[in-house]
Amino acid sequence: MYNSIICRYHEIAIKGNNRRVFEQQLIRNMREALNAIENLKIRAVRGRIWLELPERKPFSATEIDLIKEKLKFMFGLESFSPAILTPVEINAIKEALNSVADSVFSPVMARKSKVSFRIRARRSNKRFPLRSKEVEIELATVIGDKYDNDRIFVHLDDDADITVGCEIRDEFAIIFFDSFHSGGGLPTGSNAPVLALLSGGIDSPVAALMTMKRGSAVGFMSFHSDPYTPPETTAKVRRIGEYLNGFQPPQKHFFVNLSPIQKMIRDCCDPQYRTILYRRMMFRIAESVAKKYGFYALLTGESLGQVASQTVENMSVINNSTSMLVLRPLVGMDKLETIRMAEKYGTFELSKEQVPDSCTVFLPSSPATRSDVPRLESEEAKLGDFRKVLDEMIANIEVY
Ligand code: ATP
Ligand code: MG
Repeated sequence: MYNSIICRYHEIAIKGNNRRVFEQQLIRNMREALNAIENLKIRAVRGRIWLELPERKPFSATEIDLIKEKLKFMFGLESFSPAILTPVEINAIKEALNSVADSVFSPVMARKSKVSFRIRARRSNKRFPLRSKEVEIELATVIGDKYDNDRIFVHLDDDADITVGCEIRDEFAIIFFDSFHSGGGLPTGSNAPVLALLSGGIDSPVAALMTMKRGSAVGFMSFHSDPYTPPETTAKVRRIGEYLNGFQPPQKHFFVNLSPIQKMIRDCCDPQYRTILYRRMMFRIAESVAKKYGFYALLTGESLGQVASQTVENMSVINNSTSMLVLRPLVGMDKLETIRMAEKYGTFELSKEQVPDSCTVFLPSSPATRSDVPRLESEEAKLGDFRKVLDEMIANIEVY
C-alpha cells in the first residue's frame, strides 16, 4: 500500500550554502545501499528525500523490509516513514486514509478492546484551503465514521496506539503511520577519509562508527603478531572490518604483522615500556600508510584512563610519535556507554569473542602508567635504525 518513503534529515538542514553537497552525498550513499531495488527513484525535494518506484507503484513488503534494514543506520538521515502519496486535495487524502486504515487499525483492534489514535497534520502548502487543525478534524472523522465509536477514541499524546501523520506539500500530500529512526549525523563521505587503528576489541569499532557518523569514511588498519597470535585474531578483526563496511561505501582494510619490531623491543628495551613502544610503532606505520593512500587523520578507540597506556602522560607520549591528527571519539565515554553503543550497532556480538591481541604479546606484568618522550626516545635509540624494519613491515602489508 505504500507508494513512497519519506526520508527526513536534521543536521544537513542547518548547512546553509553547502546543504546541496551534503544532500547529494546522502543520496549517493542511499542509492548504493538500496541498489538491490530496481529502478528506485531517489529525489531531494525541499528539505526531504523521497523514494519512489516508476509510476508510483507500491513497494512490496520485501522491499519495505529491505529499506528498513538498510536505512536503520544511514548516517545523515534522521528518520523515515513508508507513506501513501496522494494528490493535494482533501477528498483524495480522506479516500487514501479510508482505503489503508484497516491494515493499520485492524491488527491493533484485534489486540485491544479500546484503541487510541491521533492525527497529526502539517501543511507547508499555504495555498491549501484547510488549515492543519481542520485537516486533522476531517481525517479524524474518516476514522470515527469507519469504526465502532465504543472501540476507538482520540488521544493527543505521544503514547496514542496509532498516530496518523499527514503532510500537505505543494506537489502532493502524504499519509503515514510509522516513523523509524535512522543513523543521524552527517552522510559518510561528506568529510575527508580517516584511517582507524582497528583491534578486535569493543572500543575501536565504536570509534569507527562514531566517525562515519560525522561524515568521514573510515579505512582500517589491524596489527597481528603472527606466529605469536593465532589466525583467529586476524579472522575476527577481518569480520569486524567487513561488518563496519556495511555502514559506509566500503574502504580498504590493511593487515600488518607487528612481530618483527615487537621482537626487537622485547630484546632491547625496558619491559615496562613495551606497550607504549608498540603503540608508537603502530602510529608510525599507520601514518605512513595513511599518507600513501589518502587518509587525512588517524583514529583510535582510546578512552582516557581506561588502561595503563591511556593515562594522559602515556597517551601524550604515544601521540608524539606522529604528526598527523589523531581522532579519539571515545575519550569522554565510560565503558558502559561504549558497550551500549556497540550493542546498538551490533558490533558487540563480534567483539566479545575472546582472542589474543597483538598488544598483549610479550606483555610485562606491570606496565608503566607514566612515561615521557625523552625516556621513550632513549629506549627507541637502543633499537638502532628501526625505520628500516618498519619500511619492510609496510612492504609486507596485506590489503583487503
Ligand atoms: P579496543 O577495545 O579498541 O581494543 P582497548 O580498550 O582494548 O580498545 P587498547 O587495547 O589499549 O584499548 O587499544 C587502544 C587503541 O589502540 C584501540 O582502540 C585501537 O584503536 C588501537 N589498537 C590496539 N591494538 C590494536 C591492534 N592489534 N590493531 C590495530 N589497532 C589496535
Ligand atoms: Mg584492545
